Amino acid sequence: MRSINSMSDRACCVCHSPSANVFIELLNLPVYCNLLWSDAQQAKDCPKGDIRLAYCDRCGAITNVAFDPTRLGYSQEYENSLHYSPRFQAYADELAQRLVTKHQLYDKKIIEIGCGKGDFLVSLCQLGNNSGIGFDNSYIEREEHSEWGDRIQFIQDFYSERYAHYQGDLICCRQVLEHIQQPADLLGPLRKTINPSTTLFFEVPNALYTFRNMMIWDIIYEHCTYFTATSLSYAFAANGYQTSEVQDEFGGQFISIEAQPVLEPVSPSIGLEADLGVDLRAIADLTTDIAQFKDRFQLQKQQWQVRFDALFAEGKKVVIWGAGSKGVTFLNLLTMQDRIEYAVDINPRKQNKFIPGTGQKIVSPEAMLHYSPDVVIVMNPLYQQEVKSALQAMGLTPQVVTTDSDSNR
Ligand SMILES: [Zn+2]
Repeated sequence: MRSINSMSDRACCVCHSPSANVFIELLNLPVYCNLLWSDAQQAKDCPKGDIRLAYCDRCGAITNVAFDPTRLGYSQEYENSLHYSPRFQAYADELAQRLVTKHQLYDKKIIEIGCGKGDFLVSLCQLGNNSGIGFDNSYIEREEHSEWGDRIQFIQDFYSERYAHYQGDLICCRQVLEHIQQPADLLGPLRKTINPSTTLFFEVPNALYTFRNMMIWDIIYEHCTYFTATSLSYAFAANGYQTSEVQDEFGGQFISIEAQPVLEPVSPSIGLEADLGVDLRAIADLTTDIAQFKDRFQLQKQQWQVRFDALFAEGKKVVIWGAGSKGVTFLNLLTMQDRIEYAVDINPRKQNKFIPGTGQKIVSPEAMLHYSPDVVIVMNPLYQQEVKSALQAMGLTPQVVTTDSDSNR
C-alpha cells in the first residue's frame, strides 16, 4: 500500500497552490447519491467512482482530486429536494424571510442558479412580490408554478454566460458550488456578466462540520470541493468579489456567503493570502483536524461495524431513516448491505425506489407499521425529534439513534 504522501497530488482547485495532499481515499462509491433506481439490481450496479480527498493548507479547501465531471450530468431523475422535512422547510422559510428583509427585496428581480424544483425561488418571490428566474437542468414543470405566469420563469438548463442578459438584484445559489470542479468556472463568468450593484448569496455544505465533527457520511462523489468559511471567502475574493458576510446555517451543517462584485479585483496569482482574507488561525486548526481525520474515520467506521454485528447477532431489525446522500454513503461505506432491508424516506418521489450501490428499498414511514423495526438510525441528527414524533404517532417505540459521533460514544 502506498503512503499518503506518494499518492497523486494536484493543484488546489480554489487557490491553485500545487501542494494539496491526498489524506483519505474512499473507493468505488456511487457517483450519484440522489439518482434513485427502480430496480434493486440496477441500483447495485449503478455507476461508481473514487473519492481521493486532498487538502490545501494555503486556503483550506478540500478537493476530490479523482473527480471526473464527465461521469455526472444532472437530469430530471435527480431528486434532492429536502422540502418534505418540516425541520428543513422551517429553515428555508426563515432564510427566505431573512434575505427579503435584509436586502429589501420588494418588487425586485431575483435569479436563482440551481433552483432545483423551484420551491425556494417561489418563497423569495411570494414574500416580497418579486419576480424571479430560476435555472436548473433538473427542473420539471409543475402545475402550481403556472399560476405565476411571467412573474417567475424557470429555465431548464445550467446557468451560463449565454444568459447574461438576465440581471437580478439578488443572485442566489444554494448547494451548487461544491458540485463544480473549479469554483472559478461559475464565479468568474458570473463576475463578468452581472452589474456592480448585484448581491450574491451562496450556500454550501460546511466542511468544518463534516471534517471536524466527523460527519463522515456527508462525503459524496458529487461534491468535488468542500469549503470552510476561509476557503469560500478566498474563492470569491480570487474571482473579483468582496465578501460582506459569512455565516453558519442550519445548525452549522451549511455556510452561507454574501458578496458583491469589486471594481478592481485582486489577482489571485499575485495576491497575498492576507489580501484575500485568509484566516491563518482557522487554516492551522483545520490542518490539525485533517491530520487526524483518517484515523478517526477508520475508528468511527469500525465502531459502527461492531455495533451492527451485535445488533444482527441478536436478530434485531434495523432500518435507516433518510435516503438522501448521508444515508447512501452510510450504507455504502459499511458492509452490512444485505442485513438492512429498508431505508425510510418521507419524500414520496423517493419511495419504492432503491438505494444506489447497496439496493435497499426506500419505503414510506407508514411501511414501518408492518415491519416494526427494533432500531431506527436517523441519518441527519437534526431530524431526530421529527422522526421520533412520526414513530410515536404510529404507536412504534423502536430505539432511535443518530449518526453524529457525539451521541455514539
Ligand atoms: Zn488552496
